Amino acid sequence: MIGIVGGGIAGLAAAYRLQRAGYDVQLFEAGSDIGGLAATYETSGDRVEAFYHHLSKSEQTIVDLAEELGIGDRVEWHVGKNAYYVDGSVYPMDTPWEILSFPHWSVYDKFRLGMLTLDVDVRGGVPSFDTYERLEDFEHTPVKEFAVEHTTQNVYETFFESLLDAKFGSRKDDVSAAWLLGRIKFRGERDLLRGEVLGYIEGGFGVLLDALIEAVGKENITTDARVTDLAIEKEVQSLTVETEEETTTHEVEDVIVATMPNVLESLTGYPCEIDFQGSVCAVVEMDESLLDTYWLNVADDAPFGALIEHTNFIPSDRYGGEHLLYIASYIQDREEDLWQMSDEQVTEHWLSGIEELFPQFDRDVVTNVRVARNPRTAPVYERGYLDMVVPYDLGSEVGNGVYYAGMASQAQYPERSLNGGILAGYACADRIIEAEETDDEHVDPIEA
Ligand SMILES: Cc1cc2nc3c(=O)[nH]c(=O)nc-3n(C[C@H](O)[C@H](O)[C@H](O)COP(=O)(O)OP(=O)(O)OC[C@H]3O[C@@H](n4cnc5c(N)ncnc54)[C@H](O)[C@@H]3O)c2cc1C
Repeated sequence: MIGIVGGGIAGLAAAYRLQRAGYDVQLFEAGSDIGGLAATYETSGDRVEAFYHHLSKSEQTIVDLAEELGIGDRVEWHVGKNAYYVDGSVYPMDTPWEILSFPHWSVYDKFRLGMLTLDVDVRGGVPSFDTYERLEDFEHTPVKEFAVEHTTQNVYETFFESLLDAKFGSRKDDVSAAWLLGRIKFRGERDLLRGEVLGYIEGGFGVLLDALIEAVGKENITTDARVTDLAIEKEVQSLTVETEEETTTHEVEDVIVATMPNVLESLTGYPCEIDFQGSVCAVVEMDESLLDTYWLNVADDAPFGALIEHTNFIPSDRYGGEHLLYIASYIQDREEDLWQMSDEQVTEHWLSGIEELFPQFDRDVVTNVRVARNPRTAPVYERGYLDMVVPYDLGSEVGNGVYYAGMASQAQYPERSLNGGILAGYACADRIIEAEETDDEHVDPIEA
């Protein structure tokens, strides 16, 4: 049997791939629900993710998986409108002329930013088209130095800095230019007249999770089952699972750890130096819409980094007519005030923040607020990150038959995503399948 630790998208994808190749798998999930960071809430219509989610047009593996699972027709693409709140005004940033009319930039600022987003390096006056090809070349460059050199000081100060503040807070100066460049390249298709095209699954990503659970088989998945130990003697022997009722040990041929790297360390001793940030994220249900945009970056002293009105991306009639607004903030340190607050205090803090930004906002339209939090939700993509990535196959580091598909793996660089989780799960499954095929080819001639 192949044991899989963790029932997020990565663990499920690994289980699915192996099972399709004829392997016997058992997946153990510590929580009571499957889905990890992609877990969902009920609404009066479709389910919605506790943490906002969408797809980028460049993410093909998740679309192919949906197709294989028979839900390809539920993958939908819509324009997700973007805007920027600065000095009391909201500036739409979807079309070239909206960007060109942003009052905080000179013509030269716009030219430099435009060239960077088109992958053209115009430093020194001679355009170069291959400078940005390899993200790795920018792994050790501080993001600020890069942004100032490849755009302008003003673009950094009036744009990138607040995005970095919202995303990485006190760690922003540690982030590598490779992350920023990856974000710029990662952005998918743009509709020149309307803005960026983003993907979703009709009914929510829970539909994909359900289809995966169905394909893997409920009998092969155990929830409320925390893996607490791996027995490894040169190769992995067994895993130990704790449930409320009992502790059991299961013999395994291989094991895939599809969790955050701190769990990998506690199970195998393999240390990972990558720092993770946490998230606090509320879904606010409202009788009325608040914004004209899907995604609002807030360059202000607001108590949150972004406001994301999900129902300006997916129609509110899917949720019984309720308008759903995500309010989100990243946490670098569990001592931060926001992390220490109760859900009620977070709600009060954030709704007052909205009242300050939008004086016309009437709290009476809010019908429900649900707050989700998780201490490890995204890596800090700091300089030298690639040296800290955990390999898929930990045979030489930990013991034969131990694989890693969690968020510290290569597929989740330069940004973590559902697609990356699937790629990581597949990468581990494929290595197990290949290792068995290689073993079969090397059958002892006497035995054969
Ligand atoms: C705020 C936010 C916004 C995001 N936005 C997007 C987006 O727009 N688009 C996108 O594609 N992605 C987005 N993501 C990222 C995406 O959710 C993740 O990349 C993906 O869900 C990670 O999946 P995973 O399986 O690697 O990890 P997880 O989802 O963390 O799953 C790991 C699982 O392992 C379980 N586990 C831990 N320890 C044990 C143990 N000892 N035994 C058994 N089980 C254990 C955990 O309970 C968990 O369920 C977002 C994430 C957040 C937090």
